[in-house]
Amino acid sequence: MPYTNRADRLACQARYYARNCSRLRAAGRAYHAKHRECGILRPEEPNHPTYCRTSRLRIKQEAIAAYGGKCQCCGETQGDFLTIDHINGRQKGEFGKTYKVGGEELYRCLKKRGWPKDAFRLLCMNCNFALGKFGRCPHTPIVVGENGDGLYTKSGG
Ligand SMILES: [Zn+2]
Ligand SMILES: [Zn+2]
Repeated sequence: MPYTNRADRLACQARYYARNCSRLRAAGRAYHAKHRECGILRPEEPNHPTYCRTSRLRIKQEAIAAYGGKCQCCGETQGDFLTIDHINGRQKGEFGKTYKVGGEELYRCLKKRGWPKDAFRLLCMNCNFALGKFGRCPHTPIVVGENGDGLYTKSGG
């Protein structure tokens, strides 16, 4: 029965809970027993109850698996930290688009092309950010620079 009054509705819910308390608690216990084995899984792992909840997560999961499942620089495996890196930089006109493709659309374009490895790789946000900002990741050994000092300095600075 619809309640226009919030207090009435809450009172009704409270009465319902009191009447069905043991049944609701038993249902809750059954749910937890059934899902207990999923408790340690992260949402992006296949056996997690919310896995594949959205197509965006699913396509990202596919991309991560296709590109080796970990950061190609530091080995990070936490899916939320991983992202596809354009080895030669992101370019306009990729995949026949007039704009820079990113996010879910990028995953779909890569999938359509059989996950090309020549221009794309999997990196974590840290390594990807470092490459974009410094031109190299601090994880990789320092290479002796053009001026022979062996130190890396920020590009342009
Ligand atoms: Zn990394
Ligand atoms: Zn790195």
